[in-house]
Amino acid sequence: MKLTRLLTLSTAMLAVLVLGMLGHITRDAWLHYEHTNTGLQALRLMQRAMVAAEKLSFERGPVNAVLGDRQPGDPARQERLVRARAATDLALMQLERELQADIGAPHPVEMAPLYRTLAAARSTVDQLAALPPAARTAERLGGAVSQMFALVPQALDAVTGYTLASERAYPRISRPLIKARYAVELREYAGRLGSVLTVALATRQPLSAADYEQLQALRGRIAQLRQQMLTPGDGSSPELVAAIARVDDVSLGAGKQLVAEIEQASREGRDYDMDTGQFALRYVPTMTPILALRDELLREAQEQAWSDHEHARYELLIASLSGVAILLALTLLILIVRRRVVVPVLRATRAVIRLGNGDYSRDPSGSSRQDEIGDMLRALSTLRTNSIEKQQLELERQRLIEELRLRADTDYLTGILNRRAFTTAGNKRLRRAFDRKESLAVVLFDIDHFKSVNDTYGHEAGDQVLIRVAAVVRDQLRDGEILARHGGEEFVVMPMHCSQQQACMLAERLRKAIAEEPLTLADGHILRVTASFGVASAGGPAAALDDLLHAADQALYRAKHKGRNLVEGATQDGLTSPA
Ligand code: GH3
Ligand code: MG
Ligand code: MG
Repeated sequence: MKLTRLLTLSTAMLAVLVLGMLGHITRDAWLHYEHTNTGLQALRLMQRAMVAAEKLSFERGPVNAVLGDRQPGDPARQERLVRARAATDLALMQLERELQADIGAPHPVEMAPLYRTLAAARSTVDQLAALPPAARTAERLGGAVSQMFALVPQALDAVTGYTLASERAYPRISRPLIKARYAVELREYAGRLGSVLTVALATRQPLSAADYEQLQALRGRIAQLRQQMLTPGDGSSPELVAAIARVDDVSLGAGKQLVAEIEQASREGRDYDMDTGQFALRYVPTMTPILALRDELLREAQEQAWSDHEHARYELLIASLSGVAILLALTLLILIVRRRVVVPVLRATRAVIRLGNGDYSRDPSGSSRQDEIGDMLRALSTLRTNSIEKQQLELERQRLIEELRLRADTDYLTGILNRRAFTTAGNKRLRRAFDRKESLAVVLFDIDHFKSVNDTYGHEAGDQVLIRVAAVVRDQLRDGEILARHGGEEFVVMPMHCSQQQACMLAERLRKAIAEEPLTLADGHILRVTASFGVASAGGPAAALDDLLHAADQALYRAKHKGRNLVEGATQDGLTSPA
């Protein structure tokens, strides 16, 4: 697999894994944060429900006062009832408004039945209050009180539901929430304790046996709640301990004492010294410390819930930020590896391939880098320089070899082939002619009386004569016709395949050319030289080059002998077959 493909694949795999992991962590943090949000909403709803329950409990005080009032009624008592009802309505409205936000609480409170029961209870109270005191029988008064009693448990159901929802989001606040829930119940039962006296106070009759029984049961329940909830010294805050002390002192002390006094008067058949309104005015304030305790507990729960919520938010932030940071770091790392390692390595690979193919046109750049890749690129650059030098040396060597070869084959004076080169080329041509069954001839010629040229004009002039004669003959020959210096002032020509007759014609042309060409020496002397020619040819059975030359030499000898400046052809007898 190619390196780039491998990197892309592994990058993609790594990205998927990291994204998956980060997504999972962030999603968990987000869900937890959402959960705490829901918990906060549940907590708010629970508080609203608690306040609603409290206001419903509280409304019973002014109700009892109005029911025990004379005719016409005390406007102040009416006024208190109107205010209490408005406070209840406001609390219910706030609860309802909070409910509009769907939080998926386990027991969403149904407001409609509560409103119906409340309207019915209020209507009963108003009808009864409109009657003359004498018409307000114990039975009817008891019915009205019971209807008012029935309201609070409905609100408490909602409190329970939202308490559970809050606890699910914030397990740590379970204890203060349960205690706050007990405080609400305590307020309710303390309120009921007072309300039980309503009928007796309103009718100025002794308490009934059922009233005594109810008082007893309520006292038991209150004691139980006190037992379950109000235990100072279990790590509670000083504020909580103080609030509990006030409940013990005021609600469970003075309040209970007031009820006990009424109860005592009833048993002794004495007058109560007060009606329901006066009782309510004294009794209701004794329950305020219970609400203060409730609020202290709620404050504690809320504080903890907020701290948990903040923690969840912080964790979400950390998860998101670290996720982004990890992704950025990963991307950066991949980019760096790609830019600093993969791309240079690929470039280096291509450079090595080019060097291997003998292409030194481009220098692998990047050698300014101080790392291992830089070392590698520098090494490649050096390799390229060395290779270029080696290539140039090789070229120079080839050129020298070629020059040597040329010099070895060339006659130093005339520039035409020397005898050695002629032997090689001539043998080759002879073999080819034999293979093709073509005839081949050699023309040997020797400058006449050359010794006297040397003797008369000097050796250098002799050299010039040799150079000129070679040039004149060269001009007369076609490409492919070999001219060589055979030795001293003797030359040999090997024309392309031709017969003895054609070779003699060529020799005649050369003879004339030499004889007619005036040779001007360096000192201005004009010379004319002639040469004698011997021609020999080979046809049919192949002849050895030496034999052919020998035959031509004999013909040349005859030409000299006959008077020079002549062409003489060899007889067929002069040729022998090659060995
Ligand atoms: P012939 O007509 O019988 O050929 O007479 P010739 O004088 O040409 O023959 P000979 O063989 O007596 O003399 C050849 C001379 O050529 C002898 C030698 O000094 C001279 N010679 C051979 N090679 C060179 C050379 O390279 N340069 C010069 N200048 N002279 C050379
Ligand atoms: Mg000679
Ligand atoms: Mg000669």
